[in-house]
Amino acid sequence: MEMINCSRCEVKMPELRLTKFGYDFCVNCSTEKPKKAINITGGSGDHTYNTIQVVTSEQYDSFKRQEKLNSKVKFGDAESKTS
Ligand SMILES: [Zn+2]
Repeated sequence: MEMINCSRCEVKMPELRLTKFGYDFCVNCSTEKPKKAINITGGSGDHTYNTIQVVTSEQYDSFKRQEKLNSKVKFGDAESKTS
C-alpha cells in the first residue's frame, strides 16, 4: 500500500485515503475534537482575576466535572442538574 504524509501532523497514512476519499489528513486529525475555552477565576479575596484558557474537549470535560464537585462542596445543591 502506498503511504503519504498527513498534511496536518506528518504521520504516514494510506494514499488511498487521499485518492479515494479526498482526505489529505490522517484518521487522528479527522477525529480531533475542537478546542474549547474555559473561564478561570484565580486569586482570592479582593485579588481575583479572570482569564481564559483554551483546552481540548477532554480537558474541558474533566474541568467541568471538577467544577461540579467543587460547587457541591461550596454551595451544596444550589444548581439543579438537567443532564
Ligand atoms: Zn494527521
